[in-house]
Amino acid sequence: MKRTMKLLAVCLLFSFVLFACSKKDSEHDKLQVVTTYSILYDIVKEVGGDLVDIHSLAPVGSNPHEYDPLPKDIQKTTDADIVFYNGLNLEAGNSWFEKLIETAGKSGKDGPVFKMSEGVSPMHLTTKGKEKEEDPHAWLDIRNGIKYAENARDGLIKVDPEHKKQYQQNADTYIQKLENLHNEAIDEFNKIPKEKRFLITSEGAFKYFSKAYDFEAGYIWEINSENQGTPEQVTQVVDLINKKQLPVLFVETSLDPRSMEAVSKETGVPIGGKLYTDSIGKPGEEGDTYFKMMKWNIDTLLKNIK
Ligand SMILES: [Zn+2]
Repeated sequence: MKRTMKLLAVCLLFSFVLFACSKKDSEHDKLQVVTTYSILYDIVKEVGGDLVDIHSLAPVGSNPHEYDPLPKDIQKTTDADIVFYNGLNLEAGNSWFEKLIETAGKSGKDGPVFKMSEGVSPMHLTTKGKEKEEDPHAWLDIRNGIKYAENARDGLIKVDPEHKKQYQQNADTYIQKLENLHNEAIDEFNKIPKEKRFLITSEGAFKYFSKAYDFEAGYIWEINSENQGTPEQVTQVVDLINKKQLPVLFVETSLDPRSMEAVSKETGVPIGGKLYTDSIGKPGEEGDTYFKMMKWNIDTLLKNIK
């Protein structure tokens, strides 16, 4: 009897191990991908298609400048076949990403951890004392978004060369779509006199955008990881709005609108709409992909400054 029990226990253990193994195998049918925030999540999804299973660390609608990884984020990053991050100082707030990569055992040379902004010409902050720090918001210039897609493609091919052709095809289709949107934006904005091409947001996320589409941009604070909406910052932007006699202000979907509402109240200038900067929209919302958020931003600006 004792022997039978023992045998039964061994069998049970054996089938459990088998089950655990097969479960792991089916999970690994798809390439396990981790991205630091939702914009990268969406770009990698476009390029990876059905071949990838992606987890975004900073969830949709949140601020990726500073993020506190949860236990599940550490687990997913440890298990990931490939990790994508923005770079350019984005994930540098409280060093959250660096610490996570270390904890997940992926800080070595073979990572595999890929920088999506590889090849972008960095722009820098202008706040006094911060001039050496890079501005991370490169994706708001669609031509940089195309670079991100190329880097996603190259990273995926490196880790999963078997599906090279599929990744290339997906990337080609997607990049063509982005190129068309960029050209449309240039054409439409060019119809608007230069002096009207001015935008004010809470965070100064529009440096790359302004350079690409020939805009000027003002803000309350320059980057989300610094003090937000101090009295000095508010006074400065109010002065700018009055001096330039700007007709409209904007808020960001991933930020508390109260600072801009205060500015609006003080200047009497209305808030014309929401722009997507550090996050795509929630599923089903306008702007729930990188392509759609850029299109939304372009359309919202056109509608308000025409
Ligand atoms: Zn930002």
